[in-house]
Amino acid sequence: MKKKIICIVCPVGCEVVITVEKGEVSVKGNKCEKGLKFAKTEALNPVRILTTTVPVKNGEIKFLPIKTSKPLPRKVLMEAMKKLAYVEVEAPVKTGQVIIKDFLVENVKVVASRRVKRV
Ligand code: SF4
Repeated sequence: MKKKIICIVCPVGCEVVITVEKGEVSVKGNKCEKGLKFAKTEALNPVRILTTTVPVKNGEIKFLPIKTSKPLPRKVLMEAMKKLAYVEVEAPVKTGQVIIKDFLVENVKVVASRRVKRV
């Protein structure tokens, strides 16, 4: 399997070619070790920080931006979005406040990305 991706670790955006043959991953085009690590993860188990919004009751804004505390496997992102569709929080909310503990994967939290005052 050969795949061309853009490294998203930093703004340089290197074009990286990943080749997987007999379980061995080789990477070309990366300019640094971070890009190598990203490409290997991308080839074997791609992960992403999930960011979205959920409704907030009695807040100065109607939707609270949230994110996961750690990257989630890309294969569970759809399931994650379905679960978050039923989440609503009550203001006030502090930046970094834990909204959900152990979200799909142990030790991954859903946290508030900003403060919301109660009105
Ligand atoms: S390979 Fe390194 S320099 Fe290139 S985009 Fe990735 S992190 Fe940035």
